[in-house]
Amino acid sequence: MRRLPGLFLRALRLRCPSCGGGPVFVTWVRMCPSCPSCGINFDREPQGGYWVGSNTINLFVTEAVFAGAFVGTLALTWPTPPWDAMLWGGMVLMLLFPVGFYPWSKTLFLAVDLTFRPREPEDYVQPAEPGPRVRR
Ligand SMILES: [Zn+2]
Repeated sequence: MRRLPGLFLRALRLRCPSCGGGPVFVTWVRMCPSCPSCGINFDREPQGGYWVGSNTINLFVTEAVFAGAFVGTLALTWPTPPWDAMLWGGMVLMLLFPVGFYPWSKTLFLAVDLTFRPREPEDYVQPAEPGPRVRR
């Protein structure tokens, strides 16, 4: 439990939650397969479905931001809320926020996963076996 704040702080900085190394993203939406510093595989379930948790985090955070913006706008503008602006602003928010939040949803999910399922030796990239020597 002592490691818990560190995992999430490193995730919020878009670094490897396990070691703090990085960068862990090649582009905004493409993650490295493993950490360049410690070698932990980011996809910890190669049979698939691992990132459903990050999509869930992205959905929940987007909904929370939308609810906060909606209630905040209502509170600030009551009794004449700008319904049209709220409609279009809400649509833009719901389309753009998940894209902007995407990398954090992945690193935060990794932090959650590492909290409940600590690292195992097989989570790390195994060094490649030297192949047979080819003589010419
Ligand atoms: Zn690492």
